[in-house]
Amino acid sequence: MALLSVVLPAYNEEQNIANTVKTLSDLFEAEKTDYELIFVSDGSKDKTFAEIEKAAKENQRIKGVEFSRNFGKEAGIFAGLELASGDAVVVMDCDLQHPPTVIPEMIKLWKDGAQIVEGKKSNRGKESFFYKISAGLFYKIMSGLIKMDMNSSSDFKLLDRKVVDVLLTLPERNTFFRALTFWAGFDTRTVEYEVQERKFGKSKWSLWGLMKYAISNATSFSTLPLQLVTMMGTVSIVFSVILGIQTLVKWLCGDSVEGFTTVILLILIIGGFIMLSLGIIGHYIARVYEEVKGRPKYIINKVTDNVSGNMTGSWKKRQ
Ligand code: UDP
Ligand code: MG
Repeated sequence: MALLSVVLPAYNEEQNIANTVKTLSDLFEAEKTDYELIFVSDGSKDKTFAEIEKAAKENQRIKGVEFSRNFGKEAGIFAGLELASGDAVVVMDCDLQHPPTVIPEMIKLWKDGAQIVEGKKSNRGKESFFYKISAGLFYKIMSGLIKMDMNSSSDFKLLDRKVVDVLLTLPERNTFFRALTFWAGFDTRTVEYEVQERKFGKSKWSLWGLMKYAISNATSFSTLPLQLVTMMGTVSIVFSVILGIQTLVKWLCGDSVEGFTTVILLILIIGGFIMLSLGIIGHYIARVYEEVKGRPKYIINKVTDNVSGNMTGSWKKRQ
């Protein structure tokens, strides 16, 4: 029988673990699915890992690792993918905002030949007005840059073993899981789901966090911002030609342009353009620098008893 791995990144989710374990194991036992649950505690500061260990003692199908610090959800997902030994892997949030009842549908599509099943949000759940605006803006920019519809896409996906193996060979440190599956290709189908409300705890995203995430993902998937520099340069040149001609004509006619205002405006505008451009280029250089250093995506500090292998640095060997 095919084994299904479920990867659940968790950061300060102590209140959710027991409930999630119960919901998922009840579901898979009812569906007679062979499963394993892989929890990746992302340097949680609460008792998340203790909760995972407790669950692992009761049920051998539950495995868990704890990072040495908070490495972010992306790192959590990739650690889970490396640990998973299933023929198919489902990635989902451990706050059950991704409804587990959709998983049987995903499995059905997978058995039907799909290699990637994308969870597509049919609504965005209950979010604050501010969050909605910023998330909306975030997805607009992302969709424009990556040329994919990011608004309804999510990290809730089922991946075939083949796809998981492909994703694990990618050498980059700054991954963007959501878009990487689009990039990878394969036979992709979608299932719609309704975003559930979070029962315990609260969302880990701040506006600042979301913005950083947007910029980092946009630049890891697109070089369009660099072309923006060229565009700004072109606009400046067109303006300078027009302004130059006008100034010359005025000068030839015997009256020169108002000096001070023009100079101040020009310095400010050009200075702004130059600094913005340097910032964009600098950002890409920073990304290259980060990648070149070649540090692991995450460091594993602790594992549950049923997980073995060399865990200092990124996990290399799947058992
Ligand atoms: N998460 C994580 N590391 C982080 C932030 C979040 O592993 O640094 C996990 C979190 O525990 C949850 C999932 O990512 O399982 C989604 O996070 P959250 O529910 O806070 O985000 P939202 O649902 O509001 O997008
Ligand atoms: Mg959530």
